[in-house]
Amino acid sequence: MVFLLILESLAIVLLLSVVRVMRRRQRDLAAALRNRTPYLVDEGGGSDTDEWRRTVAVANELVTALRTAETARSGQLSQLETTLGSLREGVLAVDEKNGILLANKALAEIFPKTTLVLGQRVETVIQSSAFSAFLDDLRRGTAANRVELEFATDNGSTWVEATGAVIPAWDGSRARWVLCVLHEVTRQKRLESMRKEFVANVSHELRTPLSVIKGFVETLVDGHREIPEGDRDRFLRTIQRHTDRLHLILEDLLTLSRLESRNPGLRLEATDLTRLLRELADDYRQRSAKSGHRIDLHLAAEVPPMAADGVRLRQVFDNLLDNALKYTPSQSFIAIRTALVGGEFEIRIADNGPGIPAKDLPHIFERFYRVDKGRSRETGGTGLGLSIVKHIVQLHGGRVWAESTPGQGTTIVLSLPVQTPASPEKPVTGAMLSPTGK
Ligand code: ADP
Repeated sequence: MVFLLILESLAIVLLLSVVRVMRRRQRDLAAALRNRTPYLVDEGGGSDTDEWRRTVAVANELVTALRTAETARSGQLSQLETTLGSLREGVLAVDEKNGILLANKALAEIFPKTTLVLGQRVETVIQSSAFSAFLDDLRRGTAANRVELEFATDNGSTWVEATGAVIPAWDGSRARWVLCVLHEVTRQKRLESMRKEFVANVSHELRTPLSVIKGFVETLVDGHREIPEGDRDRFLRTIQRHTDRLHLILEDLLTLSRLESRNPGLRLEATDLTRLLRELADDYRQRSAKSGHRIDLHLAAEVPPMAADGVRLRQVFDNLLDNALKYTPSQSFIAIRTALVGGEFEIRIADNGPGIPAKDLPHIFERFYRVDKGRSRETGGTGLGLSIVKHIVQLHGGRVWAESTPGQGTTIVLSLPVQTPASPEKPVTGAMLSPTGK
């Protein structure tokens, strides 16, 4: 009886210790699975049952498969990140509540002021009702293939061409996530509007002389018998004046178009700028004798013959001196000064005329920009002179700008790099100019 009792107690102790060992192994196995590490069976073979070994083997296979899948996934993710990062287009993915899931580097460049943080709602960083509407339209399937969107910025606007699609949710849910590709087209938009503005300006400039010519020609055709000779002469002179004006505008337009082309035909030759300025001063002194303008030449710096297109530079100085004469009253002073500034040859053409208001100063080199439209046309101006000046100076690798104090005068400054002629008569291409001419 006692023996039976002892046996029973021993059996219970043994069972309890087996249960404890099993529990510890299960805990260890669970910990190994959590850490994604293989679980080592008792290789001594002592206490592990075959069934336990099989269970552990299956668990270890699963751990290995999981680790392989995870390595592949993180490789794909980093590949995707590199690919998206190298794209010039902005890529954005949002969830069904417009929470940001993915945003590449190019997107941050399109919206530099916004910090695109994953999880953040897109409306808080890209504030545009048109863009939010576009995302909604994409989800409804009513969005156009490609839309152009304008985003207000501190210095104007940013234009973006957007395409997008609904994508399956990565979390396996049935939510409608959206992927968008944004391509910045601000520069193209700006060029387009400049081109439109240019065509409108040209049409406007041509319309007035053309309609005057048309009107007088019709009058002469209809009533050439009745019109007194004196009137006929006056009409013909008016037609001639307006034809000359049309000719002048077209000449300037052709010059501009040539200067803006790939081959502006600049002929760089050894040009003595000091001599050119002396000749100019003499010519203009004679020309301005009637109006009583005084022209002074101060050659503080002289340079050896430079690689330059003398004909085009003469055109530059003609335009500047014509302006100085046109826009200043008789008896005004005009001074041509030269200086060497930081290795550049600086030529200043200054007058003591009415000057140019500060608000107009940044625009006077734009095509057709005039401060006083009436005065410019009256004096035969086309509004293209300074634009031509700027192009020619830029083609010589130089800069041109205007300084003015209203009521005291205007100074146009040219700064040309001092280049000695390496290979004379070398034509220059127009690659360094922007197509807008601004
Ligand atoms: P325009 O054919 O009208 O003279 P420009 O391109 O040569 O055209 O000059 C642009 C405008 O700049 C002129 O219409 C004039 O209003 C202004 N401007 C140019 N030079 C002077 C100057 N020396 N003094 C005052 N205004 C000037």
